[in-house]
Amino acid sequence: MNTSLDLLSAAGAFLALGGLGAAQDGPSMALVNDMLREVSQARLTESVRALQDFETRYTFSPGNTDAGDWLYDAFRSLGLEVERHAFTWGTQSEENVVARIRGVSRPGELVLVSGHFDSTSETPGVLAPGADDDASAIAGVLEAARILKDYHFQRTVEFVCYNAEEQGRRGSIAIARDYQAAGRDIVAVVNSDMIGYWPSGWERDLDVAYEPVSEWLADHVLSVVHRYVGIPAAKHLSGMCRDDHVSFTARGIPAVSTMDCWDAHNGGSETTPHYHRTTDTLDTLNLECMTQVVQVNLAAVAELAGPIGRAFMPYCTATPNSTGEAARITARGSARISLNDLTLVAQPVPDEPFVFFLGPNQVELPFGDGLLCVGGGLTRLLPPRVASDYVATRVLDLPSLGITLRVSHNFQCWFRDPAAGGAMFNTSDGLSIAFLP
Ligand SMILES: [Zn+2]
Repeated sequence: MNTSLDLLSAAGAFLALGGLGAAQDGPSMALVNDMLREVSQARLTESVRALQDFETRYTFSPGNTDAGDWLYDAFRSLGLEVERHAFTWGTQSEENVVARIRGVSRPGELVLVSGHFDSTSETPGVLAPGADDDASAIAGVLEAARILKDYHFQRTVEFVCYNAEEQGRRGSIAIARDYQAAGRDIVAVVNSDMIGYWPSGWERDLDVAYEPVSEWLADHVLSVVHRYVGIPAAKHLSGMCRDDHVSFTARGIPAVSTMDCWDAHNGGSETTPHYHRTTDTLDTLNLECMTQVVQVNLAAVAELAGPIGRAFMPYCTATPNSTGEAARITARGSARISLNDLTLVAQPVPDEPFVFFLGPNQVELPFGDGLLCVGGGLTRLLPPRVASDYVATRVLDLPSLGITLRVSHNFQCWFRDPAAGGAMFNTSDGLSIAFLP
């Protein structure tokens, strides 16, 4: 397996066909299908549960602040750039949470995937679980971030969690205004508001709300539905469904909202009966349908951003060490040499000396209590350090490592493990990284 060669051939085909117009070529669709296979209903469920467990995320409640902090930490732990976007209206000050994967060739062009993290109910200060509205979308945004972070894209992807939607789209109005004022080029916004409630008879009846300026984007989403997921779907002019996308379309920025509830606003029965009630909880959601809508959003955004190839690929295996678990190696930051912001992380490992090393080949050979996953002339990142709180980290200086772009670079962590007896040392699994300039 050589991911960097796959990457280069995908990028070559992509660029040869003229850039983003080639988003539907074979290599790109194969990449997007790889991404969609990673969407996890179990993880989406856990995210909705975590969000409703704040009891309320009502804009003026402590739970809202806590939920914002939780989202910030969740993006950070994925290794993404993340920031709080502060805004005010009247005497109120609130924050949106924004995470980012920087684009390779068109970093100034932004594709947003978004939802709102605040909630409301009849008793908003006390209890407003907001599972469908709108933990469902935020869970999808987190899942998209978790998957897309492992890939390179032409354009920058931003994962945006708006605050204060229930007070009149305050957070999205502020983002649209501030980005436009700063001259930031938003190519498209794929927003979601309520994607978890699918009553019998309306299963998978995906609705895409758009404005005239974003009809092409609605058509793109429907095309993605057709090519990747295959569920009933239709586009509708926003009408009463003035969700966060309208904050952008009002400024001429293409934006749509995917949702489960179109007929709710048109006298039908498709919406959740728990809308803005304390009973809008996880157990009322159809998580299988919700997972498919998250796949639609992810594929729409990935194609808009122009997938180039996979940046990070785990391989090989690790054996349990004296912490009781096997150590996994991951990376924070990007595989971009020019950004030079990559940190290797291995955990859990015992609080003992460790060394990360890299090499050109992937092997699986017995080594200490585990396996050697890297071969072909190893480079050790010295000096050894000592793990702390069961985590080994090392900031890489990519220019000094002699990284080249046309071979695969494989990384692994070695650590002492005297408490396990045996060979007194063990290893993590392997991580293959395909670098770009
Ligand atoms: Zn909502």
